[in-house]
Amino acid sequence: MKTNFNINSLVRENIKSLKPYSSARDEYKDATSGDMIFLDANENPFENGVNRYPDPQQNSVKELLSGIKNVPQKNILLGNGSDEVLDLIFRAFCEPKEDNIITLPPTYGMYSVLANINNIENREVLLTEDFQPKVAQILEKINKNTKILFLCSPNNPSGNSFSTDKVEELLQKFNGLVVIDEAYIDFSEQRSWLERLEEFPNLIITQTLSKAYGLAGIRLGVCYASQEIIAILNNIKPPYNVNELTQQKAVERLQKMEEVTNEISEIIKERTSLIHHLKEINFITKIYPTDCNFVLVKVDDATKRYNQLIAKGIVIRNRTNQPLCENCLRLTVGTRLENERLIKELLSISKS
Ligand SMILES: *Cc1c(COP(=O)(O)O)cnc(C)c1O
Repeated sequence: MKTNFNINSLVRENIKSLKPYSSARDEYKDATSGDMIFLDANENPFENGVNRYPDPQQNSVKELLSGIKNVPQKNILLGNGSDEVLDLIFRAFCEPKEDNIITLPPTYGMYSVLANINNIENREVLLTEDFQPKVAQILEKINKNTKILFLCSPNNPSGNSFSTDKVEELLQKFNGLVVIDEAYIDFSEQRSWLERLEEFPNLIITQTLSKAYGLAGIRLGVCYASQEIIAILNNIKPPYNVNELTQQKAVERLQKMEEVTNEISEIIKERTSLIHHLKEINFITKIYPTDCNFVLVKVDDATKRYNQLIAKGIVIRNRTNQPLCENCLRLTVGTRLENERLIKELLSISKS
């Protein structure tokens, strides 16, 4: 249990004193009461399914997520993709031109883009050769203006999860916020940090419906944190940040978790089979361990192999310019048929 943590010392002054926008639906919440006539939001009264503003607190979605993930609703905030959630975190806690964040390349590119947009210094500490955090170096980089440490676990593009001990040490020793991006957690054998949310008041976990849940198109990101942190982010989010169609689609999907679980099992099975076949490709020199729905491989010449696959009609991700990823390609696990095509084309390239 972490006790020496004070969230108020991290919030930007202008955010502390902010008077949030109060929408019509904030001021009269009980939109489900059937008999009421709503003349408060200047909506068009003719029904078409989306003529009304959506629930600003997305209660139906949160209720389902709360049951599935076993986290109280008051610890959940939803955004227009996790990208919006991450941006809200920057805007709540990082003072432009003063504060800094720490990221651990090679990792998800959005953290540094958001740092640039918000004019926040990004202090980078490379992962080790086997893609684990260098705890001592990270702790050395921290100063009084370090507000956030971003840990992507399982990590994109390497695919592995960070060691529990290292993450725990960072959570304990750093008195800023630790954001653990769990976009790929549903493909992983590792336990989610959600179980330990109550132990660490500085912990923010982000997840998304874009990967395992099969809903990249609706843009729904999820943030789990202490009630205090969620309240701060709630104050600064756009009032209707998750649209009605997104909320409806999410509810539909979350009510059919068996489908989601079956698809995840199928993807994990395919991942195993794909890795097995990748071992037969002579120009692949290394297959990195993965907890995600993708596999990072090292090849003889990444750009050459990338272009050869494009010519065969298959698009993968060339990660050769990322630190520690020289000549690395990232392959997303597709359907059985797609993976078979990939292997077939890799084999034909390797023989040409
Ligand atoms: C794909 C991905 C996301 C997803 O972001 P959304 O905006 O929710 O689609 C977040 N983090 C990582 C590390 C990812 O790879």
